[in-house]
Amino acid sequence: MKQITATYIIVGAGLSGLTTAYALHQQGETDIIILEARDRIGGRILTKDGIDFGATWFQNHHEHVTTILDHLHIKKFHQYSEGKSVLVYNSMAPAHYFENDPSYPAAYRIAGGSLAMIQALATIHQERIYTNTKVSHIEEIENQIVLTTNQGEFKAAKVIVTVPPRIASQITFTPKLSNSLMKSMENTHTWMSNAMKVGLTFKKPFWKAKQMSGTLIGQIGCVTELYDHCCAKEETFALMGFVNEALRDVSPEERKSRILEHLQKYLGNEVLEYLTYEEKDWSQDVFTNTDAVKSIYMSPRYGNPAFQETYLNNKLLFSGAETSPIHGGYMDGAIYSGFNAAKKFIAQD
Ligand SMILES: Cc1cc2nc3c(=O)[nH]c(=O)nc-3n(C[C@H](O)[C@H](O)[C@H](O)COP(=O)(O)OP(=O)(O)OC[C@H]3O[C@@H](n4cnc5c(N)ncnc54)[C@H](O)[C@@H]3O)c2cc1C
Repeated sequence: MKQITATYIIVGAGLSGLTTAYALHQQGETDIIILEARDRIGGRILTKDGIDFGATWFQNHHEHVTTILDHLHIKKFHQYSEGKSVLVYNSMAPAHYFENDPSYPAAYRIAGGSLAMIQALATIHQERIYTNTKVSHIEEIENQIVLTTNQGEFKAAKVIVTVPPRIASQITFTPKLSNSLMKSMENTHTWMSNAMKVGLTFKKPFWKAKQMSGTLIGQIGCVTELYDHCCAKEETFALMGFVNEALRDVSPEERKSRILEHLQKYLGNEVLEYLTYEEKDWSQDVFTNTDAVKSIYMSPRYGNPAFQETYLNNKLLFSGAETSPIHGGYMDGAIYSGFNAAKKFIAQD
């Protein structure tokens, strides 16, 4: 079994962990290792066939997202919303249409998909990211922290755990962390861990030809929200949205057939000419969700002050979207907490 040592070990190669690695590197710190349980980097950021199955949008007030995109020279673009949008509010009534108010600022998307940001952040650390490496035990031994994983032991002077708090509560800490901290971790809902997305690609954006935006909204439908998801360069054409959680328990075949029927009804027969159809149910992903799924539609409170403290004699910090007092749960919170964790450790030196 391996035994690898570094000054900094970051647990989790999601947006927060990779931001911390990037920020430490900017300060001249290069002895950094990132341990990631999944076989891929990005965590709740996942772009496949140009479709963002995880985080997608940000707004003007998400200043940390803008900052990091500027650093990485990645462009943003507005969510397409021109033309007629569909409101499904009553399954018996015909579709209602509405137009988006052009004076209301549309959300931004990330050119190349949200994963572009992850890949750019990871470039400098490519060799030092260990995927398929799940941390199960974090122990303070003398002046070091020893991390036990399925791939052997790792040792560090400083550790940043960026795993969503509820998932991090499954890690064993020695000496034990206080009961109140463990309770705070267990009680912190992982934002969007209940979400299920669907994405379809097409040869052409047929909805635009019909002066439709591709937006479809309605809690009673099989797809509760759907949006145009063409790429920034208008070279790939797609629709992406959220699946009604009531369909979670039906068979994949039935779910797909009901979703297609719903979209065909409101957007037209061209829906059936899709090139690819894919779903992602985050509730089934053990590195995001632990719960028997319960929907949470309102933003829970994030940024518990306990997550801002240092532990194990100043050698352990928590970070990640749910620990952030600013825009907790969102990409902006993940980036804010990522920069903040690096700052705290640098300030110790
Ligand atoms: C469907 C969906 C839609 C979303 N939409 C938006 C949106 O439009 N806008 C927005 O701002 N935000 C959105 N979000 C939220 C956004 O994805 C998160 O805020 C952000 O990606 C969190 O980053 P993070 O690094 O804090 O956590 P994560 O991305 O969860 O990263 C944590 C990492 O830790 C790893 N890990 C877990 N356990 C272990 C272990 N024991 N050992 C080692 N590694 C481990 C995980 O695999 C993961 O890679 C969405 C999320 C989802 C799921």
